[in-house]
Amino acid sequence: MNFKILHRIVLSILLIGALLSAFQYISGWLIIGFIMGYITFVLVISTNVQLNFFVRAFHNNPLEEDGRIALTFDDGPVENTLKILEMLDKYQVKASFFCIGKNIEKHPEIFKLLMQKGHFVGNHTYSHTRKMGFLTTAQLVDEIQKCDKVCAEIGEVFPNTFRPPFGIINPNMQRALAITGHKVIGWNVRSYDAIIKSEKLILQRIIRRIKAGDVILLHDTQELSIEEAHQNKPHI
Ligand SMILES: [Zn+2]
Repeated sequence: MNFKILHRIVLSILLIGALLSAFQYISGWLIIGFIMGYITFVLVISTNVQLNFFVRAFHNNPLEEDGRIALTFDDGPVENTLKILEMLDKYQVKASFFCIGKNIEKHPEIFKLLMQKGHFVGNHTYSHTRKMGFLTTAQLVDEIQKCDKVCAEIGEVFPNTFRPPFGIINPNMQRALAITGHKVIGWNVRSYDAIIKSEKLILQRIIRRIKAGDVILLHDTQELSIEEAHQNKPHI
């Protein structure tokens, strides 16, 4: 969707509203309410990659017929990634890891191990800064390309997929991705493993929603995910 056109329409409505309000045809509170509503709308569409508003992302595979699901782990590689690899080996499962460039530099051997074991690797920016939603297009391009560079230098791998940190896809990110050419991978089952502090609740949350072709969002930085896998011995 062309955000600029939407933005212009909203500004035109605001201008007309302001004029009507000035001549006391409508209440000023109506204008304030409209502005607040628009800000909320922009926040929602910018922080929910699932909405496909700015970029068409892949969130699941509705054509999956063999009952398979995709396990995806964000924010590594970290020490805990080794435990996850051990668990995946145990159940002979391949997963996808969306790695942060800085962490790849910190744990190059773990990153190499991910690929040696045949797991899929994607780009999750270089720094994963909390200011991601406020970066310019040029800064976002730099974040993505710097992570690509680290992947190439350390693992001789060239990711063509990208998962946006915090699910943020705003107009600047839309422009950045048009430049870098990465495909965006979202998810349709969120584990909230970085927020929920009970492995039982995390597992229940996933199991309750899961169906064939789903993409599960997990984090290899979270030890709870391993705990629940060992305790419940799922048949993945
Ligand atoms: Zn992340």
